[in-house]
Amino acid sequence: VHPTAARRTVPVVVQSQNTSYSDAHITAKFEYRGAHVTEQGGFIQVTPTVEKFEFQTQRKVSKTGLMMIGLGGNNGTTMTATIIANRHNISWRSKEGIHTPNYIGSLVRASTMRLGTDPITGKDFNIPISDVLPMVHPNDLVIGGWDISGLPLDKAMYRAQVLDYDLQRQVAPHMSGIHPMPSIYYPDFIAANQSDRADNLIPGQDKQVHLERIRADIREFKAANGLDRVIVVWTANTERYAEIIPGVNDTSANLLNAIKASHSEVSPSTVFAVASILEGAPFINGAPQNTFVPGCIELAEKHRSFIGGDDLKSGQTKVKSVLAEFLVNAGIKPRSIASYNHLGNNDGKNLSSSAQFKSKEISKSSVVDDMVDANHLLFKPADKAAGEKKGEHPDHLVVIKYVPSVGDSKRAIDEYYSEILMNGRSTINIFNECEDSLLAAPLILDLTLLAELLTRVTYRREGEAEFQPLYSVLSLLSYMLKAPLVKPGTDVVNALSRQRNALEQFLKACLGLQNESDLLLNTRIW
Ligand code: NAD
Repeated sequence: VHPTAARRTVPVVVQSQNTSYSDAHITAKFEYRGAHVTEQGGFIQVTPTVEKFEFQTQRKVSKTGLMMIGLGGNNGTTMTATIIANRHNISWRSKEGIHTPNYIGSLVRASTMRLGTDPITGKDFNIPISDVLPMVHPNDLVIGGWDISGLPLDKAMYRAQVLDYDLQRQVAPHMSGIHPMPSIYYPDFIAANQSDRADNLIPGQDKQVHLERIRADIREFKAANGLDRVIVVWTANTERYAEIIPGVNDTSANLLNAIKASHSEVSPSTVFAVASILEGAPFINGAPQNTFVPGCIELAEKHRSFIGGDDLKSGQTKVKSVLAEFLVNAGIKPRSIASYNHLGNNDGKNLSSSAQFKSKEISKSSVVDDMVDANHLLFKPADKAAGEKKGEHPDHLVVIKYVPSVGDSKRAIDEYYSEILMNGRSTINIFNECEDSLLAAPLILDLTLLAELLTRVTYRREGEAEFQPLYSVLSLLSYMLKAPLVKPGTDVVNALSRQRNALEQFLKACLGLQNESDLLLNTRIW
């Protein structure tokens, strides 16, 4: 068994008065230290702050179902086949030899984090992220979902042309019994070129009936498989943006009424999100459209349900959220970032239509904003008094073209053109080529495993009697998402290292461990 799929459990036990263990819970005291900073009277005044919290994590993991919308697509079939291959330990042969199944590319299963140092050797002690707190093993996920295309999953996997043939051949008997449930299709929202796939539909155009049917699907799937928890992930085609219309989708009550009235601006993905929220199933949006209209976010808040999004951050944008951070933090000024993609899978075909491309363009375009805004030395902030809305910003271009021949193997070309010392110039070119779905599937996995974990974590502030769940928008999932959805009114963090740090620090906080960071003080002093 590949180490990323192994069922090792070396539990972490924290020996500290801040951390206590019962059969049911890990309870940890945590001091959240920050600082309030203001500029006044010619000074920048900094006041350290500390807030006391307790986190409580349920130790027993939920029996979890993963329901994907777009189950028969490239991501859906690749995710399903990967889990089946790992579960049955199916190895396969290619021209290079024999391969064993794995979860490479999953932050949870295939990456480690530093817990501290070994007192004897003084070396870093790193453990797999999946071992930091109790987490679901991906082999145990029960898979289901919907697709507007009714092909059973073995045939859908063949259509996707992602996995090696010898692997497809062996997982096919395990896939053929999985049939996507009929879905909702409002042709106006995805590209017209998808219409020939749409043969597996919930009848009619009554959106309230659709909502109730999806809710019943979630309930029945949960009951039929004896699940404690279902996570719903949109990995269906990118929709066009829904227009935000006051009275229609601006509040939760209006949105529910708009569904009752079958209003034309309610998208299929929003109906799925609303159904999941009402069923208490965390809903993650893996595509770029604005599924989470304001009324949808408000509904999640009201029901204390969890949501996360938007758009899987697999290749080009992930690199961009590293490189832009590197350049700006190095004091180098990117003047333009130009990104070209071409791909030949069905996602590319759908994105060749302009309204759907627009959604992708928006989700790809804001990724450098926070790094730029953080450095007022290089980028002139907006002069609000002069009526400027936006400060100085690098030119940023995103182009996506459909080239059927390259199939799932996406090509991304990026040019970073920067200003260096004394009017010098630096150009970095990146050519990134990879099978898209093999990067995306581990992200779907991470989103599922982390969302499940976050449903088991509750917190209370000092003096509060009751523990309560985290806030509805799970921005801790940002590392996997291109345009992270955050609590309304708070800033988006795009920088990849900050997103990962947040996750690591949160996991540590649940164990009562203060963030030890990379200060490594013992290596700096006598
Ligand atoms: P795909 O076209 O192969 O699969 C999408 C599936 O969704 C298809 O089987 C289609 O029939 C189905 N579908 C469309 N509308 C539906 C609806 N209303 N209900 C149910 N099913 C529906 O695409 P893919 O490569 O699997 O990508 C899926 C999504 O993930 C796309 O929106 C894509 O933009 C997004 N995404 C993918 C990546 C990646 O690296 N693969 C990265 C970021 C985002």
